[in-house]
Amino acid sequence: MSVFRKYVSHDGGSAHCPECRETISRQANICPHCRSDLKENETWQKAKNEPASAGCTTVIAISFIGLSALVYATNWVLS
Ligand SMILES: [Zn+2]
Repeated sequence: MSVFRKYVSHDGGSAHCPECRETISRQANICPHCRSDLKENETWQKAKNEPASAGCTTVIAISFIGLSALVYATNWVLS
């Protein structure tokens, strides 16, 4: 269980630096690429507090809409 948990949560995931757009750890206070101080950066504070699954949810929502359209089209063809 602990191994699984480690895989899922990792270190909180990664996000893009608001200054240089490099992928960095959400835990970072200073960007390792451009050395920006992220503690005072509002954009970064917002980005790092966004749920890590936001991207996944969007993908699932789009898949669901696509599937619904497919089911609707199938019903239409069969009727
Ligand atoms: Zn940066």
